[in-house]
Amino acid sequence: MCRHLAWLGTPRDLASLVLDPPAGLQTQAYAPRRQKRGLLNADGWGVGFYDADGTVRRWRSARPLWNDASFASVAPVLASHAVLAAVRSATVGMPIDETAAAPFTDGRWLLSHNGKVSRAALPATLDAESVCDSAVLAAHVFAQGPPALVSILRDIAQKDSGSFLNVLMTDGEKIVGVTWGDELSYLETDAGVAVASEPWDDDPGWVDVPDHHLIEVTRSGVTVTDLEA
Ligand code: GLN
Repeated sequence: MCRHLAWLGTPRDLASLVLDPPAGLQTQAYAPRRQKRGLLNADGWGVGFYDADGTVRRWRSARPLWNDASFASVAPVLASHAVLAAVRSATVGMPIDETAAAPFTDGRWLLSHNGKVSRAALPATLDAESVCDSAVLAAHVFAQGPPALVSILRDIAQKDSGSFLNVLMTDGEKIVGVTWGDELSYLETDAGVAVASEPWDDDPGWVDVPDHHLIEVTRSGVTVTDLEA
């Protein structure tokens, strides 16, 4: 499965979020510490963020993150208060190109899916950015409305019991994450909150979010809800 992360807080440059942490996304692309399925996340990667006007900007690539020298060159001067990034290990049969790399967007929301889902469990759509399962899932969530995320995932899980439905989203104002087959961790600092598939360093402040939970992050704090309670 893939690895993803989100940031909400004071503007932070993309290098410090994606490239620099010792066990961060770039390292997780080839040496994740907690990944349960798959060991290499080399089938592309992407980052989405909001500019000062609130416009969604993305940099995505079909190459491994560690090999994206142009991104590494500009990342220190790209900063945002809300960021979503992912490294990809493609599910068998899915296309490997830039349009299949998360995050997906509807122009307001950014969404990353870590897992797999049968496309037969999702309605057909012409709005997906790719035929990749995660892009079709994203188009479905955007069409139904992100506030319905949990009920959308419950419905899909009933139709496809073999699905893994870990989702991380932001609209620039909040982060919404669901663990469904995997886990998340978050780190609260004075500057903001990071949510990630696994801690990017050994800071003891990282808090684990177990499987089947919802995490919501706003400017006023973090809420974690057990979806099985
Ligand atoms: N199914 C998605 C893809 O093929 C995500 C894969 C994953 O989480 N490893 O890109």
